[in-house]
Amino acid sequence: MLQDRLSEVESTIERALSRARRKREEVTLVAVTKTFPASVIDEAYALGLRHFGENYIQEFETKRPQLAGLPEANFHLIGHLQSNKSKKAVELFQTVETVDSVKLAARLRDHGVALDVMVEVKLSGEDSKHGADPASIPEVLETLRSAPNLNVLGLMTIPPWTEVGEQSRPYFAKLRELAELHGLRSLSMGMSNDFDVAIEEGATHVRVGTALFGSRTRP
Ligand SMILES: *Cc1c(COP(=O)(O)O)cnc(C)c1O
Repeated sequence: MLQDRLSEVESTIERALSRARRKREEVTLVAVTKTFPASVIDEAYALGLRHFGENYIQEFETKRPQLAGLPEANFHLIGHLQSNKSKKAVELFQTVETVDSVKLAARLRDHGVALDVMVEVKLSGEDSKHGADPASIPEVLETLRSAPNLNVLGLMTIPPWTEVGEQSRPYFAKLRELAELHGLRSLSMGMSNDFDVAIEEGATHVRVGTALFGSRTRP
């Protein structure tokens, strides 16, 4: 079942890459496993997946000890991170995609733990969304880049949800522009509904949950 869904996602990735004349190794598939049990992560790992996205510190803290060794797994935090939970985050995750303030950047720096990071950028006016204002990217980057323990990969964004993936395209194009402006390579953008469009627009990381694991019972 998961194997079939993974094949479908892989074909969609391949088709989008060929339209954009890009190569498979330019895109990392981040399997979003929030709300699913640890056994699902083990199963996905067995099928060759290595990058996993989780939204909640507490949920992943419960799941982590239940996981097999998974020596090559890279766990990405893709949900909002409060500064007071940053210590836990650096213990649990290899990548934090949701750095959205100077304060949080400074906390991650001060923990001194090696970590890959991305700056989450808010490109829509939705109140419900977290993310740094595009104007504050330089100061967040300055803090991150001053930290020897932090490896700055690039930018991440979540456009307003839409069933029609094409509607996300302007947000993806905007994130790519901002990354170029700031000399950043990685772009984490695209979810189940729009990862093909994101790849056409230059995504280096797509975060896919539902298309791999089915719909979630909890949000
Ligand atoms: C839940 C989530 C995803 C995955 O969404 P799907 O639509 O299930 O693919 C990706 N990114 C973030 C930030 C999420 O919270």
